[in-house]
Amino acid sequence: MPELPEVETIRRALAEYCLNETLETVSVKTPALIKNASVDRFSNEFHHKQLVEIERRAKFLIFNFENRYMVCHLGMSGIFLKDASQSRFPQHIHLIWEFKSGKRLYYQDVRKFGKFWLYDTQPDFTNLGVEPFSEHFTFERLKALIQHKKTGIKLFLMDQSNIAGIGNIYASEILFRAGISPLKKCSDLSDREIRSLYSAIQEILQSAIKNFGTTYSAYRTVSGENGQNQNFLKVYQKAGLPCHQCATPIEKIILGNRSTFYCPRCQK
Ligand SMILES: [Zn+2]
Repeated sequence: MPELPEVETIRRALAEYCLNETLETVSVKTPALIKNASVDRFSNEFHHKQLVEIERRAKFLIFNFENRYMVCHLGMSGIFLKDASQSRFPQHIHLIWEFKSGKRLYYQDVRKFGKFWLYDTQPDFTNLGVEPFSEHFTFERLKALIQHKKTGIKLFLMDQSNIAGIGNIYASEILFRAGISPLKKCSDLSDREIRSLYSAIQEILQSAIKNFGTTYSAYRTVSGENGQNQNFLKVYQKAGLPCHQCATPIEKIILGNRSTFYCPRCQK
């Protein structure tokens, strides 16, 4: 599932490709992906509108067409493509935007868990937690969020109401970087550990963005290419392989129904 770095990589590429373009048509081939409007309304509201801003909140993309907002969640396998001619799954192209300039944008989604919404005002996402790259994400804020919780730290990281945008891959990687066991209870973390965690969250997400995201299955960049960050993962999907710091085999456990990878020696 795309996490913050993949969605941010897509956002940046889309901004480069189609920001300030004016929409001619949007065709919806799979109406079920539109969650809160009819296909007619969804198409008509954006007609002839200029795309003035593309923002990201957690794993959501927010397209501002002159104060008509199209919000997208990529689900498990949603991707945007500039060019669908090389697509491996042309039958899974569900939406096509055509701009006045002749540029086109395609939404492909093999598993169809992606979702689109239309809003007349900017959605506020009040149920989502703090953005890891916002000024609100401080050590003190993280400590306040963590210190009295009895849940395990990995589940805490993946709970979107605490910190927004972290999923299964980056939760394991962040905990490895911070040297904290995924089994550790939030309330047992020391100030020093919370400080390591705070840095690790920003470093891991930042370098994943720099590497254009992690391609493990469906995720591709807007140009249809693989991300590069899978080449830099230290524990995710490395069960049985030697830890790159201490050579102890990486372990795999299940937490909250999700595979979790960690080094039993480096992470306490
Ligand atoms: Zn190790």
